[in-house]
Amino acid sequence: MKPPLVYLVGAGPGHPGLITLRGLECLRQADLVIFDKLVSESLLDFAPPGAERMCVTELGKHHVDRYLPVQRTMVEAALAGKRVVRLKGGDPFLFGRGGEEAEALRQANIPYEIVPGVTAALGAAACAGIPLTHRSHASAVAFVTGHENPSKPESALDWAALARFPGTLVIYMGMSRLGQITRALLEQGKPADSPAAVVHWASTGLQHTIEAPLGELGGAVIKEGITAPAVIIIGSVVSLRKELAWFENRPLFGKRVLVTRPRRQASELAHGLVLLGAVPIILPAVEIQPPADWAPVDRALANLQAYHWVVFTSVNGVHAFLGRLQEIGRDVRSFGPVKLAAIGPKTTEALQEYYLKPDLVPQKFQSEDLARVLKKNLQPRQRILLARADRGRDLLYKELANLALVEQIVVYSQVDAVPANSPALDSLRRGEIDYVTLTSSNIAGALVRSLDEPCRARLESGAVKLVSISPVTSAAVRQLGLPIAAEAAEATTQGILETLVRLADKEKT
Ligand code: SAH
Repeated sequence: MKPPLVYLVGAGPGHPGLITLRGLECLRQADLVIFDKLVSESLLDFAPPGAERMCVTELGKHHVDRYLPVQRTMVEAALAGKRVVRLKGGDPFLFGRGGEEAEALRQANIPYEIVPGVTAALGAAACAGIPLTHRSHASAVAFVTGHENPSKPESALDWAALARFPGTLVIYMGMSRLGQITRALLEQGKPADSPAAVVHWASTGLQHTIEAPLGELGGAVIKEGITAPAVIIIGSVVSLRKELAWFENRPLFGKRVLVTRPRRQASELAHGLVLLGAVPIILPAVEIQPPADWAPVDRALANLQAYHWVVFTSVNGVHAFLGRLQEIGRDVRSFGPVKLAAIGPKTTEALQEYYLKPDLVPQKFQSEDLARVLKKNLQPRQRILLARADRGRDLLYKELANLALVEQIVVYSQVDAVPANSPALDSLRRGEIDYVTLTSSNIAGALVRSLDEPCRARLESGAVKLVSISPVTSAAVRQLGLPIAAEAAEATTQGILETLVRLADKEKT
């Protein structure tokens, strides 16, 4: 049996945690990911860093069928030997053209696998607290497309039968025809007081649920200005929502939070935000690159045991340093008896990935404290190697230089990464962001450099609140002329999340 080359994978309804384990396995092996517009962007982080990522909207349109370019790209990539993941919203075989895409693969003789997903109806039901079936309410459920015009005689749907359907109706793609749909059902005898709801952006922090009797649903939706993506749920099960709703009560529900860390390090914060009900908006202010010159690093690595201490002040520093050690054909034995210092728990975890255990980690995770405890542990004239970023702070060096022989090597560099036309900046400009998280002085500097006047004004006035990871980052932000709304008690991702919850709580009262 030839292994599949294309995987049609259901990404689930929007919450990144709702993809299947099999879907994730496929993503982790992808060379190319072609994703739908509605798919959660954080899922793309699970593809290998080198994999190509394409949104279907980038693939252009065909004059007959806008999906033809997708099929063509998929087939061509597979024929070139690439492993393609076609990441589709919800389930691939439910109103997702997965059938047509599989047919195209079949015709081209390309082996494929289809990985089901949590369809929007199920995501909306769970997250709005509306069980689609219930022993006292409904014993059947129908998934219906609202894309067809119910007033046209050639409609493939039998609205009379749907009006009589003995169970719950879930209508997809119905927002632009909501008025026609409700009218068709009412005309065919569905009672105007049938409980009904529209669930917009189900399962994400943007979820918005509107409940109204069928006869009033259209008006209520227009009043709230709700558009796609949304499903319409009709049936007496909707009445259970008032008891069963849970998702909308999360502490950060609906809050839009800008995450400014480098892309590869953003996922922990983004994931934590999603679990609290927030909407993370990823805008890496800096990206990590190899240093301009490896020669000083290679010299240090070739003679590691000449140092008494190697000091790591970031996760990036650990990976860059140990990655290079491997690249030049050595391994952790090169450390011998050298002592290791790490600035905090994440840097410690990164070292542990290489089976290294730091000898020293300060109580508070900032350079001042690291310098203080290092000084206590130094013998006179010991040699210290600092593995750092090109833009890092000089504090450690300055504090230690008169006590020890300190050598600094740049193991990675940070470059400003905000593109001028970023959609996240547009959101900031329009006031559609509640909080901006800042996890280092460098990130703060890079973000502020990328802001135009209207964006900056949002931050200056405090309309969009800045949340910092530590006193050092807060001081850097204030120096840049911007106010800090809150500072994490502990300089970790968890600390930032707790601070956001506190801030949101305060705003509620
Ligand atoms: N294959 C997808 C459906 C694609 S059709 C699935 O199984 O879910 C697109 C329609 O799905 C949208 O018009 C909307 O009706 C629905 N939809 C997709 N994501 C949704 C979401 N997060 N919340 C509500 N409806 C959603």
